[in-house]
Amino acid sequence: MGAFCVFSRNTAMTTYFAIITCAILAFAALNAFFWDRAYVRSYRRQMRENVYHCLKCRSIYTSRASGESAVCPVCGYRNGRVKF
Ligand SMILES: [Zn+2]
Repeated sequence: MGAFCVFSRNTAMTTYFAIITCAILAFAALNAFFWDRAYVRSYRRQMRENVYHCLKCRSIYTSRASGESAVCPVCGYRNGRVKF
């Protein structure tokens, strides 16, 4: 009986520990999922903007206009898109 009680308590503790571990893992996974979604969304928004480097006045600017070139807001010179 004594041995059974010890076993029973041990099983209960193991179950309790497993539940807590699962809860922590689920919370971490959910957290990572939402963080990833927010990060990817901001990253995509950033990637949509094309980066241009003006060859005339050497200023760096961004434009959301589609295409391979955009007019420099400083001097008006049309520059090609910078590729990374
Ligand atoms: Zn310029």
